[in-house]
Amino acid sequence: MLKNLNLLKTHGYINGQWVGDNVKSRFDVTNAYTNEVISTLPDMGKKETDEAILAANAAWPEWRSRTAKERAAILKKWFDLIMSNQEDLAMLMTAEQGKPLAEARGEVGYGASFIEWFAEEGKRTYGDVIPTPANDRRILVIKQPIGVVASITPWNFPIAMITRKCAPALAAGCPVVIKPAAETPLSALAIAELADQAGIPKGIINVIVGTNSSEIGLALTDSKIVRKLSFTGSTAVGKILTRNCADTMKKVSMELGGNAPFIVFDDADIDAAVAGAMISKFRNTGQTCVCTNRFLVQEGIYEEFVKRLADAVKTLNVGNGMDEGVNQGPLISLKALDKVKDHLSDAVDRGAVIVAGGKPHQNGGTMFEPTVVSNVDSSMKIASEETFGPLAPIFKFSTEQEAIDMANDTEFGLASYFFTNDINRIWRVSEALEYGMVGVNEGVISNEVAPFGGIKESGLGREGSHYGIDDFLELKYICMGGLK
Ligand code: NAP
Repeated sequence: MLKNLNLLKTHGYINGQWVGDNVKSRFDVTNAYTNEVISTLPDMGKKETDEAILAANAAWPEWRSRTAKERAAILKKWFDLIMSNQEDLAMLMTAEQGKPLAEARGEVGYGASFIEWFAEEGKRTYGDVIPTPANDRRILVIKQPIGVVASITPWNFPIAMITRKCAPALAAGCPVVIKPAAETPLSALAIAELADQAGIPKGIINVIVGTNSSEIGLALTDSKIVRKLSFTGSTAVGKILTRNCADTMKKVSMELGGNAPFIVFDDADIDAAVAGAMISKFRNTGQTCVCTNRFLVQEGIYEEFVKRLADAVKTLNVGNGMDEGVNQGPLISLKALDKVKDHLSDAVDRGAVIVAGGKPHQNGGTMFEPTVVSNVDSSMKIASEETFGPLAPIFKFSTEQEAIDMANDTEFGLASYFFTNDINRIWRVSEALEYGMVGVNEGVISNEVAPFGGIKESGLGREGSHYGIDDFLELKYICMGGLK
């Protein structure tokens, strides 16, 4: 039960108003574990999206005219309110998304950290004075807010994927129109309520809720007013949205899918590698874009690693994320469950051996036993497709070059990990991996100060860090001529 019932919403949020009574249909948001209805929301579409875009555009001039310091003061209030409602926000997130409460608390803190960070970074969007090639001229560069930002976000991190976009946008002086995933809109609406309480002006944050994501998406991408789209989700949808943004030449940021390798060399600290493997594979029940998809283990420690990982996996506790001691929640949908089953049966048909788990969990629903399989090879779907579930396939390699080649043999390039105690190898392998992010002897790498993002078909742009605000700014070159 929430302490602050005002955080549980039944409307969308446009121009500082809780709206949607006039929308013809409504949709249910359900508890990911019990399937009970938590709230019903207006099923918004193009009309409401257009209204939100106009509201954002109207609110923009006043917001951009404030100093970065003034905007930072409001963003810090928003940060404080999120942290003081951490427990309620975590409960709401666990209810609609399913992740264990401890992870949900962690996500609230992680999500809020972007607001605190970018409140400060907004003050440091420095320009340049460039040495002139002509004595009668001076050359300056300034950075200005890009304009109305659209952000479309997934269900796996219902708060952090929003704040990672909205905090830099707001700090830079831009308004936003947010379209959260239909499975997890309540966390988005709850933080919008806190934004309202923090004094973020009407129209600067708008939340469109609905199940017709392609209609809402088209209203956002077709709009000439929206100048930037920041998307997190699957590569397939990211490509559609990028194409749709071409007609209005919008700037895009794309945080897309991955196929993360986790390499363990013979010389690794095996305790650290198993601990890193557990967190990197099984966080959020395997449903993070940086989750390990493929374990690549050198032949000398292969058998030992397989056994140690299987033993650790057997200790995981699957159930309702609200319950004490549960560290694996349900998968987001039956479709997600089917994908895990499909990847596993395809691997077993081609010769893989199940060493832990291997079937739907006895609790039913969308739960699957945390699973480890050995004897896997590159012919199997798990080698090339993102499983997005609690399935850990362990491949074998013999040489460092073979591990690098296997790791890079994918169209994705988001996160990668490796464990070794050889400093020379650390540099060689870090530089050879074709990924936007590399964890060395570390299984969790995301935080607000570091640039998060992928290369190849994992996306465009970076979020977090001092680089993360640039996506919401335009460069302007000013040439002052005729100087005597
Ligand atoms: P998804 O199907 O691409 O959905 C993501 C968002 O896009 C949701 O809000 C969804 O709305 C919306 N959407 C779907 N089709 C759309 C369309 N045609 N036009 C406009 N919007 C559309 O992805 P998902 O399955 O929810 O999320 C998992 C994927 O996200 C994985 O591939 C994962 O790796 C990736 N991910 C990447 C990062 C990163 O930072 N790189 C972080 C987290 C997740 P509805 O849900 O309402 O349909």
